[in-house]
Amino acid sequence: MYSSAPETTKPCSTYGYCASCDTTHILGEGNARSHCYDLMKILDTEKRIDFVNTIKDPKFSTDYLFGPARGQMFGILECSKSNGDIVILKAFSCQYDGEWECEGWCPPLLDTDQFYTVLPTRDAEIKATGAQINQLEKHDPARRELVQARKLLSQQFMRDIHNMYTVHNFEGHVKSLHESYIGTGGIPTGCGDCCAPKLLNHAAQLRLKPLGLAEFYWGKENQSGSKQHAVFYSCCEEKCQPILGYMLCGVKND
Ligand SMILES: [Zn+2]
Ligand SMILES: [Zn+2]
Repeated sequence: MYSSAPETTKPCSTYGYCASCDTTHILGEGNARSHCYDLMKILDTEKRIDFVNTIKDPKFSTDYLFGPARGQMFGILECSKSNGDIVILKAFSCQYDGEWECEGWCPPLLDTDQFYTVLPTRDAEIKATGAQINQLEKHDPARRELVQARKLLSQQFMRDIHNMYTVHNFEGHVKSLHESYIGTGGIPTGCGDCCAPKLLNHAAQLRLKPLGLAEFYWGKENQSGSKQHAVFYSCCEEKCQPILGYMLCGVKND
């Protein structure tokens, strides 16, 4: 699980066990932390994440991070091109107020076109079953069956969503989330949606060489208090480490 104490001073480390190399691949923070401080300054002054656009979209205001939804993670990956040019990639974790994409930020591993095509139908099915459940008495055996049916629908939907993820690594391999996940049990919700997987996936697709990665939390502290505003954290154990070994495979550390 997550470390209880904020890792204020510890450098960020992005790592995971790689089954094909039988070793743990590690990426340090390099210069990424200083780029994060630059990003924090921008977030502080601009108070929005769509700052590359001239027209402000209210849904990308950072007020959202200080409200009931609370904050989220932001990350930077410093990379180099084959000619040595430095490229800075940015990512926010999960969705930003329901949005998967925002100009200037890495896209998700999820195929959003596919996701939005399937979402309304599957959502409607689950909601319709919920409505049927609510019409029945608590001890009605038919109700229990429907509750079970809804659970199966949700699980199937989750599996379908996971199948819409494509995970690239630096060996040039492409796998599904199921193939790249080495944890025990089912794939946790939000796996692949943290900053590190988004950053590495995008860098691998662009054939960039990762030099350093750092992630920090921005906004109102999370419910459990384990994540604090403007504090840096290493990759998470539950969702990230089980895929990061595969994702970091092929990163050449000089
Ligand atoms: Zn994570
Ligand atoms: Zn490997």
